[in-house]
Amino acid sequence: MQIVQQIIFVIALAVAIYIFAKNVGKIRRNILLGKDDDRTDNKPERWKTMLKVAFGQTKMVARPIPAILHFFVYTGFILINIEVLEIMIDGIFGTHRFFAGLGPIYNMAIGFFEILAVLVLVGCVLFLTRRFISRIPRFHKPEMKGWPTKDATIILIVEIVLMAALLKMNACDQILQARGADHYAQAGSFPVSQYLVPIFDGFSDGSLIAMERIFWWFHIIGILVFLNYLPYSKHFHIILAFPNTFYSNLKPKGTIDNNAAITNEVKTMMMMPDADPNAPPPESFGAKDITDLSWKNIMDAYTCTECGRCTSECPANQTGKLLSPRKIMMDVRDRAEEVGKRLDHGIEEPDNKNLLDYLSTEELWACQTCNACTEACPVNIDPLDIIVQMRQFLVMEQAQAPSELNMMFTNIENNGAPWQFPASDRDKWTTEI
Ligand code: SF4
Ligand code: SF4
Repeated sequence: MQIVQQIIFVIALAVAIYIFAKNVGKIRRNILLGKDDDRTDNKPERWKTMLKVAFGQTKMVARPIPAILHFFVYTGFILINIEVLEIMIDGIFGTHRFFAGLGPIYNMAIGFFEILAVLVLVGCVLFLTRRFISRIPRFHKPEMKGWPTKDATIILIVEIVLMAALLKMNACDQILQARGADHYAQAGSFPVSQYLVPIFDGFSDGSLIAMERIFWWFHIIGILVFLNYLPYSKHFHIILAFPNTFYSNLKPKGTIDNNAAITNEVKTMMMMPDADPNAPPPESFGAKDITDLSWKNIMDAYTCTECGRCTSECPANQTGKLLSPRKIMMDVRDRAEEVGKRLDHGIEEPDNKNLLDYLSTEELWACQTCNACTEACPVNIDPLDIIVQMRQFLVMEQAQAPSELNMMFTNIENNGAPWQFPASDRDKWTTEI
């Protein structure tokens, strides 16, 4: 019987890892649909940024309550999963509490994991309360309708259920240990699950072993399912937050790079020595679709936690404009998924869609380029970079700009300044002095 369990476990583990690796590979392929963007400079600064922002979660502290709750859930869930290593070893080799030989260290670790499990439980319940009872406005913006809210809810409930299974498994285990049941050696300390013992104490050894096994299987299968849910969920950020912060934009906020092709053209016209008159003209200007964005822009979209901090800080959104930087990121991800699905089916030809089927020009032109969104983002996502590139496309490829801007462009072209006066009139005001 034990060997059958081991075989089932190894098959389940192999299948879960295989499917996960395949889906991660698809996300990687979708990210690499973007253009090249060299972010390998200044490695020490990049490591520092990743350690500070992703590991240290320094940008979360701007809002202390969610920061503490997130710390419980994130750290707790990651650390508790160290126990998963033991579960895996037990599952493969048919042992029970493989690391029990570590004695007091093991006992302390199990006690610590139980306390963390409770903190994760409390954190998840409070997150659900904030979302559905306190109804924090940023969780109820139009882009959060449907799947995004369901996704967040599913994960919180799954974490609650997994932690509850872990504690119930430990409760059954400690009763079996106390009764001296075969295979259940004395190991671990149970500061939390000891309070669940009265619920299970009346059962026979056989029933307890069955329940302990059910909770054990439920816990590990739940984790494997959770692992495979991640690539379909905003919770993939628990993996991508690290590379995404490593490859952060290190330039000062507000830096908007000149378009290299245009700079070169102007330099050529001005016969500047560093101009390259033979440089090929670009195929297009700005970004119309995900393939015009950089791989980092697409990685940003896959890293977005949909927390809405950017949107809640966005002055355009606050004043009732259509723009939500969170929606920009969600749209880029949705479009990348759409293109990726076509590739999954072997369809390489472009469809007749692009990012402008997801985003309206009204949203793009509502942006004040203030950078409040990038400042607020806990994982250093840069929605503004995407907005600017799409605006470049609208202006330079489609001549689609708001009338005020068109007037300014004409003035710059004719008068060398944004105003409606010829250059010869510029110093007229001095005649009155
Ligand atoms: S840069 Fe644009 S999108 Fe970002 S907060 Fe400012 S107005 Fe909103
Ligand atoms: S872009 Fe950043 S701040 Fe905005 S929703 Fe995504 S993770 Fe949150």
